[in-house]
Amino acid sequence: MAAQTHLFPCLSDNFGVLLHDPSTGATASIDAPEAAAVDAALKATGWTLTHILVTHHHQDHTGGIAELKMRHKCRVIGPRDEASKIPTLDQTVAGGDSIKVGALTGRVLDTPGHTSGHISLVFDADKLAFVGDTLFSVGCGRVIEGTMEQMWNSLLKLRALPDDTKFFCGHEYTQANIKFALTIEPDNKALLARAKEVDQLRAAGKPTIPATIGAEKADNCFLRADIPAVAAAVGMTGKSPAEVFAEIRARKNKF
Ligand code: ZN
Ligand code: FE
Repeated sequence: MAAQTHLFPCLSDNFGVLLHDPSTGATASIDAPEAAAVDAALKATGWTLTHILVTHHHQDHTGGIAELKMRHKCRVIGPRDEASKIPTLDQTVAGGDSIKVGALTGRVLDTPGHTSGHISLVFDADKLAFVGDTLFSVGCGRVIEGTMEQMWNSLLKLRALPDDTKFFCGHEYTQANIKFALTIEPDNKALLARAKEVDQLRAAGKPTIPATIGAEKADNCFLRADIPAVAAAVGMTGKSPAEVFAEIRARKNKF
């Protein structure tokens, strides 16, 4: 049976998302920004929380875990390399591991860069990816703990997923990301179309995710650092994709 998802906004600009297996009733919260918002989402769906899957240690992704765990006795699974910073984990995982949410099987990808042990979770059968603060729609996370090279390689792993993979990220940053992306690729037709679509969604109070990997390949300059025209646009012709990525990320930090 196909997985179901339920997306909801929480904190100032975070997303919460529930992943539900209708065949067993198992339900995972992807990260736990805020216990009350997750509980409200559970109430709205009628689902029972069995798992929390954690992408990285930041407070806006883990702040609700302790309270939810106490209330629901759910199993908390998260990144092995950040276990010392997430004391609520019951199970630690790293790239290559698989995890189960009821009958759903997820695959763990190491996606360091934003934090040094950041993981992403891919449910191949349902073409769903939960990418935390690594990839955003038309953007990517700040490189806080890792290197630019690590972040670029993490983005390549996500870019390699099938084009029709839907991904859920940690924040609603799309509109601001598009403003920046247009400074890099002002004539990118896919980006201009996405800008229009996102303005309409936001005006209607709707979220801009999930987006697809295929769409991001066309409109997200951070995933396009190995395209010669993008390198040229930032004066980096002939440089490595990781160096071009680093330049674009540095510009975004100052934007
Ligand atoms: Zn974060
Ligand atoms: Fe975050």
